[in-house]
Amino acid sequence: MDVLIIGAGQAAAQLAASLRQDGFAGSICIVGDERYLPYQRPPLSKKFLHERGTPESLLLRPASFWRDHEVSLVLGVAAAKVDLRQQRVGLQDGRELEYGTLVFATGTRARTLPLPGSDLANVFFLRKIEDVRQLRPALDAAGRIGIVGGGYIGLEVAAVMRGEGRAVTALEAQARVMARVTGEQVSAFFAHMHRQRGVDIRLGVQLAAIEKETNGLLLRASNGEDISVDVILGATGARANDELARSAGLACDDGILVDEFAAASAPGVYAVGDCARFPSRRYGRRLRLECVQNAIDQAKAAAAAIRGEREVYDPVPWFWSYQYELKFQIAGIIDGHDAAELIGDPATAQFSVDYRRGGRLIAVDAVNNARAYMMGRRRIAQETAVPS
Ligand SMILES: Cc1cc2nc3c(=O)[nH]c(=O)nc-3n(C[C@H](O)[C@H](O)[C@H](O)COP(=O)(O)OP(=O)(O)OC[C@H]3O[C@@H](n4cnc5c(N)ncnc54)[C@H](O)[C@@H]3O)c2cc1C
Repeated sequence: MDVLIIGAGQAAAQLAASLRQDGFAGSICIVGDERYLPYQRPPLSKKFLHERGTPESLLLRPASFWRDHEVSLVLGVAAAKVDLRQQRVGLQDGRELEYGTLVFATGTRARTLPLPGSDLANVFFLRKIEDVRQLRPALDAAGRIGIVGGGYIGLEVAAVMRGEGRAVTALEAQARVMARVTGEQVSAFFAHMHRQRGVDIRLGVQLAAIEKETNGLLLRASNGEDISVDVILGATGARANDELARSAGLACDDGILVDEFAAASAPGVYAVGDCARFPSRRYGRRLRLECVQNAIDQAKAAAAAIRGEREVYDPVPWFWSYQYELKFQIAGIIDGHDAAELIGDPATAQFSVDYRRGGRLIAVDAVNNARAYMMGRRRIAQETAVPS
């Protein structure tokens, strides 16, 4: 294979498509451990969960696209070993593939709950189609849902569940929801909206154990509270799938370390998407992003690099989340902000927040305000631009 891509998700699909679009004529192979053609994950906690969609509805490209563009897909089998010196990848089923250029697009996996009872029946995690296929019937049979983690995935599922009239309790260890991605005003707004719609949100509460009850499961919180539920969703974030790269000898640090062209620490090896940690001059540190924008744009940069063109990847990241009728859009990264300016009135459910560091705009959060978000993206790009 001229280009071998490990992982068959958003970034892998974009990389292969971009290579072909830009006239790359060499052979391309994608190896994916899931049995589905490359698909998009965002609807898994939103529309797909609610509407009980078919896997086909999630596909990024139809099967004919991969055939027509001569991209071979080896699905349902994991890459298990990488030999950088021999330029070979060993698959779980014993097959071996040779490569000229290797790309890691292995994404992340859901964090498990490292506590007693997390392996009980009716405790679920949400990352893949297969997860939803197991979770959905359990939810259908459940009246009471316990969600561990008040991040965007946990809250999106809470919104879907309330829409179906199920009781939802959400435990968040931190003092506010979505603390990793947004500021205090937006966290307070979303906690309020969820509570108003009947979600029992408990902040600053750590889960200690899960126990089996006669009629379901018991969430035991470390503050002594007990909550009886039927189904538990663990939604405490994700971990980079970087073990394969690490064992091959590539430099990793919570993600595969790459440069601004998505190149990893060995020649002819790249990493893209959720699994890659790249240097951002714009934000003054290494970033590992978990969003569609990053998967797509970093894959484009890697495709350019593989073709011998050099396009620096240093984006203004963007992200979205849907909860009830609320469209939440984020541009930039809030970390390190020293000022937050609320624009509009959260009571109207249409507002935005500008985040600044040293007077420069570094992030904008917008709720039901596409204009503030679009303008924000542009303003952040200007104000954080680094002279080359
Ligand atoms: C429920 C959910 C909701 C989300 N909502 C949003 C949203 O609203 N907006 C947004 O911007 N982002 C959202 N995201 C994040 C977004 O989906 C990811 O950022 C994106 O999928 C990353 O693409 P990727 O190709 O890097 O990784 P992935 O899409 O995760 O693909 C990686 C693939 O590699 C496979 N793999 C791993 N190791 C191996 C191996 N050794 N061999 C073979 N295959 C392997 C994995 O199983 C997986 O199929 C959401 C994610 C989830 C799970």
